[in-house]
Amino acid sequence: MTTTLTSESGQADRAGLKTYANLIGGKLVTTQDTLEVVNPANEEVIARVPACGKAELDQAVAAAREAFKSWRKTAPAERQKVVLAIADAIKSNADELYRLLTSEQGKPHQQAQMEILGAAGLCKAQAGLTLDDVINQDDETRLSRTRRVPVGVVGGIVPWNFPVMMAVQKIVPALIAGCTIVLKPSPFTPLTTLRIAELIKDVVPAGTVNIITGEDSLGPLITQHPDIDKITFTGSTVTGKKIMEGASADLKRITLELGGNDASIVLPDADVEKVAEQLFWSSFSNAGQICVAAKRIYIHEDIYDDLSKAIADYARQVKVGDGSQQGTGVGPIQNRKQFERVCELIEDARDKGYKFLTGGDVDPSGTGYYVPITILDNPPEDARIVAEEQFGPVMPLMKFATIDEAIERANASEYGLAGAVWSKDTDKAVEIAEQLETGTVWINEYLHISPLAPFGGHKQSGIGAEYGIEGLKEFTYPQVITVKRDAKV
Ligand code: NAD
Repeated sequence: MTTTLTSESGQADRAGLKTYANLIGGKLVTTQDTLEVVNPANEEVIARVPACGKAELDQAVAAAREAFKSWRKTAPAERQKVVLAIADAIKSNADELYRLLTSEQGKPHQQAQMEILGAAGLCKAQAGLTLDDVINQDDETRLSRTRRVPVGVVGGIVPWNFPVMMAVQKIVPALIAGCTIVLKPSPFTPLTTLRIAELIKDVVPAGTVNIITGEDSLGPLITQHPDIDKITFTGSTVTGKKIMEGASADLKRITLELGGNDASIVLPDADVEKVAEQLFWSSFSNAGQICVAAKRIYIHEDIYDDLSKAIADYARQVKVGDGSQQGTGVGPIQNRKQFERVCELIEDARDKGYKFLTGGDVDPSGTGYYVPITILDNPPEDARIVAEEQFGPVMPLMKFATIDEAIERANASEYGLAGAVWSKDTDKAVEIAEQLETGTVWINEYLHISPLAPFGGHKQSGIGAEYGIEGLKEFTYPQVITVKRDAKV
């Protein structure tokens, strides 16, 4: 593969297609081989990106390693300044960025805007995080102090559902901790991240942030690279297991944010009219392609009929379509592979004779990866659509009789990412929340993720956490320095 340096983000070819550049060692770089990026709303190729292999990865890692020598010594204030400058670069270009994000990811403009502004907000919120020394002992015999030291060069691997947020939530804590990073966006959604790379090229010191694109096959090269010290990965549980295996050769540190099959429990005192719309969006935002989206909703039998009707009635008013069109509430699935998987799950539900409250009729031959809003009426617990992470605009509603039964069914999953409880009785809801085997539980709201609170999965939903001090610590090693005060030397 040949690497050529370009001074700008890449030229448009004869077909008018632009090739976005990668950022390596402070320079914008393209390769001769490229990948095409498709708009999921119409399946048109909208741009190209470099198809990096081992040679480009080696360059990026070498740049990150070199930059680490000085970046690790910087004061917190200097790191904070850089992160705040990234926030400004994103925020002041938000209009351009959210449109680009919709064109590659599919999500409606308003949701794309929230992602872009949320990413800038995350930079601001996390810029002030510091890992202070901890004094373990301070007396006449000894001073013992724990400090946090950066792990080194980080490999960041990102999925396609929130490409910008996931990239930023890896870059920011890496920089704040004193690490440098080589980040790989998903081959399906690299454009907005690369545009941000261009915008921050002169904002971040050369080599501290490197962004390279390539096929999935670039991932294992990162995981196994001998000069990368830590992997921070967001994606599927299947890939997470491969990452863990790949990282084991040299015992790289890992943070894995993986899949979920998130259950919501609605108690009989919930107000049907008030919760229907909220429950709908807890499941269908980003066309259901959210790791923490409500993927199983357990409704008490006393309100099941009324609430399932209210959710289905609301769903019928929501427009599925091109995210760049005004009025679209649910965009297309992001890529063909995932589209086919969601179609297969719906097909399976149809074959088994489960009842649909809405949707269920997909036209796989149409243009664009559109799936109608599909709500199932009380399918059995072992239905594929209940037992598997759907990651699409498909939601099963299920009836329960007792709280113990609801908790047991919610916990009967290899995943443990998030969940929710809806009730006027918040004490009761907290009691239930404490029995759920998940990293996050919301009560009477959904999808609120604080940049300052740890976010991570239990069971097969992940290892470690991102966000907050706990997330930041994952980019560091503890080092204990002990001074013997009454030593005889
Ligand atoms: P994926 O695992 O297919 O891909 C994620 C990234 O890993 C991509 O950049 C891909 O190129 C790369 N990759 C693929 N194979 C690899 C390998 N063998 N080694 C290293 N890297 C490899 O996931 P996806 O389909 O892009 O994303 C959807 C999944 O991500 C869902 O399961 C969803 O729940 C999960 N997710 C989890 C969180 C979380 O915070 N827990 C957030 C968003 C998405």
